[in-house]
Order: sequence, then structure tokens, then C-alpha cells
Amino acid sequence: MDEKTRDDLLKLFQSKLNEAMRFYLETCSRCGICTEACHAYQSMGQVRYISAYRHEIVRRIYKKYFKGQGKALPAWGESKELTEMALEELSAAAYSCTGCRRCMVYCPHGIDTQMLMSIAKLLLVGAGTEPEILSMLADTSIEKGKSLELYKEGFLTGIKNLEAQVVEKWKVEAGRTPIPVDVEGADLLYVALAGAHSIVPAAAVFNAAGENWTLSFFEAVNFGAFVGDPTRTKLILERIINEAKRLKVKEVCICECGTAFRVMKQQSGKQPFKVSSITEVQARYLWEGRIRVEKDKFPGPVTYHDPCQLARNAGVIDEPRYILNQLTSRFVDMTDDVRYNWCCGGGGGLVALGEDTLDFRMKSVTVKVDQVKKTGAKILATACENCHTQLSDLNAHYQMGVDVKFLSSLVADALIH
Ligand code: SF4
Ligand code: SF4
Repeated sequence: MDEKTRDDLLKLFQSKLNEAMRFYLETCSRCGICTEACHAYQSMGQVRYISAYRHEIVRRIYKKYFKGQGKALPAWGESKELTEMALEELSAAAYSCTGCRRCMVYCPHGIDTQMLMSIAKLLLVGAGTEPEILSMLADTSIEKGKSLELYKEGFLTGIKNLEAQVVEKWKVEAGRTPIPVDVEGADLLYVALAGAHSIVPAAAVFNAAGENWTLSFFEAVNFGAFVGDPTRTKLILERIINEAKRLKVKEVCICECGTAFRVMKQQSGKQPFKVSSITEVQARYLWEGRIRVEKDKFPGPVTYHDPCQLARNAGVIDEPRYILNQLTSRFVDMTDDVRYNWCCGGGGGLVALGEDTLDFRMKSVTVKVDQVKKTGAKILATACENCHTQLSDLNAHYQMGVDVKFLSSLVADALIH
């Protein structure tokens, strides 16, 4: 690696060094408590998947270039030179970590592996060695924000084609549009993912609740966050913030995408609208009696996988359970304490990397498979696209015998007048 590249990368490293990050980098006491916290280590037994091992790579580079001891006495300070090989190690550490933060719950100092891996990911972006597909997807999202007019017509035609499916689930009053788009003064802006599964059930529930809502032109997913690029994360976020402000909505509701919700909730700053997840909104409708659902419409015990970005990392824990207890008298929780729940193994961009990560995704979460099997559930509900894909892959690979369902689709299918 030439000097200029290294200097540029170290500037990126420095841009991440706020007070919290320095604390995470300087505090690990090597107590080993986090050893068994990571699903990848628990499932595969390889030292490189221990969370403290992952951050040690980042920490040693930090010691080398940002701490006096590492600069003066590299060997003693356990410092590490930033080289191509170090980048490869950072890549292996960061792209086998889902950012689930289970290890953080165990660590007595609350060291946040996801944050430390965000340094690794940023260095990879700076060196141009991040996964190309994630970068391309992030760029496409940003481009769509810049040239919305080009996409508008095709988008509106696609949405029109979904209307009949929405009406099948819930009939709207004459004169009302089943999927309103671009409505200024709507109370709620719904930000979905591409595809009927993310739009149709949600639309039916909004209509059943009599919500004054409108659908966003943009997809909720933030590939900038997956690839660990703060600049692109912000640009992708801003498309939605600007749309919400233009339409003067009071609430932005993010679909079943854990990362999209966490990023919107925690990184959009102070805005004239509140941010909710679709799970919170649907629980509220049930609580307020704005919608009703038929109990026990679905057969067998039902369990729920808490998406890490929604539950452990953003606190949406009671709402899905409230919904499920309205839907079934046979809800079986898979954990006594959601903070310690196992990750599905698909986050952090791993599912988006598709076949490239499939083998690792299957091997690294046998603990999750065991957890699901123990519930004896017939239906495995979840509220995140990534989790749904990963759990469906696990279901097929390990023949778990469950029906993997989106929570919002269970609500929509059980709606009653
Ligand atoms: S954040 Fe999750 S995946 Fe990453 S090291 Fe910690 S437990 Fe493992
Ligand atoms: S639990 Fe925390 S302090 Fe202990 S080894 Fe792991 S990261 Fe370091």
C-alpha cells in the first residue's frame, strides 16, 4: 500500500474517532466474557469469530497510528500496520459480523462491536475493496433520489397493478385510492421495500384503520448503512426526509426492514415528524381498536424471531408480542430475555450478498436453528426482510418445518370488519 493511500485511509479512521469510539477502542480488558456471545463462534467454534478478536484488528491499527505507545514501541504496544493484508483481515471480520450487538449486551464495558466494525467497513470503502454489489445498490438508491422524474411513471404503473390485491384483503370506500401516493398533507408516509409483499398487506391494514396515509416513492432499505459508508447512508436517508417534509406528514412509518428503521430512527436527527416501525403502528391500531383481527385463524403454535435491529438495537420488543397475542392463543416465545436472543445470521449486508455468503450464513447460526426447533412452532413470524430471507434459507437448509411469515402479512390476513 502506498503512503498516500494509507494516509487517506487513516484520515477516514480518524473521522470515526469520537468519544464513544475511543472508549470502545481503549477499554477492552480481555476478560473473555464475550467469547460465547457471538452466534458465529457458538456455531462454528473458530476463534476469529469471537467479538473481541474481531475488534482487536481495528484496535491494533488504532494503537499503531493514534496512540503514543504504539507509535514509539510497535511490538510492545501490540500495534498493527495498515497494509493490504490488514484490510483483508478487516474485511473477514466485518463481513462475518451481522452487527447484532449480542456481544455488547454481555460485555461489562458495553463495547459496541458494530461500531468498531463500522471503522473496518469504512476503511474498505476508502480502499475500494468493499463488496461491489452493496456499493452498486447504494449508488442506485442515491441515483433514484436525484432523478425521481425518470422513475415516477414506471413506479406509479407498478403500484396501480397492486391495487386489486389490496382490495382483496380490505375493500376501500368508493372514491378512495387503495394505495395513495404523493399525497400532500397525509398524516403518515409509509416507506416500503420493492415488491408486493411489503406494500399490499401494509396498505390493507392502513385502509382498515382508516389511516390518512401515502406511500413513499423510495425504498426503505439503506445499502449505505450495510456497506458502512456514512456519506451514502445520509444521502439515502435524506431522500425520505425531504419527501416527508415536502408532503408535511406527521409520521414516517418504516416497513419490515430492521436496518432501515434503526437508521431512520437513530440517524435522521430532529425532524418535524416522528419515526415508527410498521410493527409499532399496527400494534397501536389494535390497541386503539382501529383494526380487529380474527384470533387463531392460523394453525399451530406461532413463534417470533426478534430482528436484532428492531428489538435489541431499537427497543421494539413488546409491540410484536402484543400483536401476536391478539392473533393467536398459541404464541410461544423463543427466549426469556430478548436482549440475549440469537441473531438469525443474515444482517450486516450478509443476506444482500446472496449466494456468496450462503454457506457461511447456514453454518454460522446453528444455535438459531436449535432455538426455533425447540419452540415446536408451525409458524415463525418476523418483522424484517433480511431476517425473513435468512430464516427461509435456514428453514429450507435444515428442514425446520416452519412457515416463515411476515408479521404484517399475518395481521392483514386476519383482518375482520
Ligand atoms: S455484533 Fe453480533 S455478529 Fe458481530 S461479533 Fe457481536 S455477536 Fe457476533
Ligand atoms: S467482554 Fe468486552 S471487555 Fe471482555 S473481552 Fe469482550 S469486548 Fe473485551
